[in-house]
Amino acid sequence: MQQVLRLALQTKGRLNEGSIKLMEEAGIELVIGRRNLVSPARNFPLEVLYLRDDDIPQTVAYGAADAGIVGENEVLEKKEEVMIVKRLGFSKCRLSLAIPQQESYTGKTWFNGKKIATSYPGILTEWLNQNQIDAEIHVINGSVEISPGIGLADAIFDIVSSGSTLVTNRLKEVERIISSEAVLIANKELPAEKKEILDEFIFRLESVMRAEGQKYILLNAPNEKIGEISSYLPGMKSPTVMPLAESGWSSVHSVISDRDFWEIIGKLKRAGAEGILVIPIEKMIL
Ligand code: ATP
Ligand code: MG
Repeated sequence: MQQVLRLALQTKGRLNEGSIKLMEEAGIELVIGRRNLVSPARNFPLEVLYLRDDDIPQTVAYGAADAGIVGENEVLEKKEEVMIVKRLGFSKCRLSLAIPQQESYTGKTWFNGKKIATSYPGILTEWLNQNQIDAEIHVINGSVEISPGIGLADAIFDIVSSGSTLVTNRLKEVERIISSEAVLIANKELPAEKKEILDEFIFRLESVMRAEGQKYILLNAPNEKIGEISSYLPGMKSPTVMPLAESGWSSVHSVISDRDFWEIIGKLKRAGAEGILVIPIEKMIL
C-alpha cells in the first residue's frame, strides 16, 4: 500500500485560511466542503487531519499526524517534541505584555506582585523566571484582553498583531516577548517513505514562497544600453536578451524582488529602458 503523509491543519480560525491557500498554491487539491476529520488530497500522497490549533503539536509529537501547520507560539507553549521544518511567513504576530494605558510603566519590575491573564502560561512563566519577577498567572482561554477592564487581572500576556485590540481595550504594549509565524512541524521519527513525501511537499512550498515578493520584468532597450541595464537586473542567472524586429533594439527579461522594485525601475528608465512590463510570478523552480 502506498504511504500517505498525514498533515494536521487548523479546522477553522486564523491559520486555516493561510494553510488552505498554501496547499492550493502548491497544487494540492483537497476534498474541501465536507469538513470530515480526515480528508484525502486528490493528486498528492497526503491526507489532512483537521484539528484545533492547540492540539496540533501534541498530535504530531505522538505520531497521530506526521506533520502539521501551526503557530510557532503554540509550538513554544506546548513544548512537545516536534521539529520545525519550515517557517511559512503567514499569520505573523507576537506575544506581548500589555498594561492599562493610564499606568506608568517603570520597567520589567512593574510586574512584581501583579496578576497577569494569559492563554500562554508556559512562555510567560519562563520569561518571569528569566527576569526574576514574581507575578501571579491567571490562565484564561479566549478574550484575555478584557481581563484588566473587568478587574480580573492587572495586565495581560497575549497575541498582538496590529495592536488595535489593545487600543480598543485601553491597553498598551510594554514588552514584546516572542514573535511568531505559521510553521510546518513534523514528527521526529518519520519512516523513510513519509520523509520523502514531506520533502516533496517542502520543495513545493519553497517554490511557491520563493515566487512571493518577486516579479517578472520585461523591457525594451537600445542595444548599446544593454550592458548597463543588465547590471541593474540580478535575475535568477543573468537577464534574457532577445532582438526586437526593430534593429538596434532588444527585449530584456529578468526577475526582480519587490523590495528594490522602485529603485530598480528608476535606474532602468534613466538608462533608457522603454515599455517596461512587470508581471506577477506564480511559482519559481530553481
Ligand atoms: P482554535 O479554535 O483552533 O483553538 P484559536 O482561537 O486558538 O483557534 P486563532 O485565533 O484562530 O486561534 O489563532 C490561531 C493562530 O494564529 C495563533 O496561535 C497565532 O499563531 C495566529 N494569530 C492569532 N491572532 C493573530 C493575528 N491577529 N494576526 C496574525 N496571526 C494571528
Ligand atoms: Mg486554539
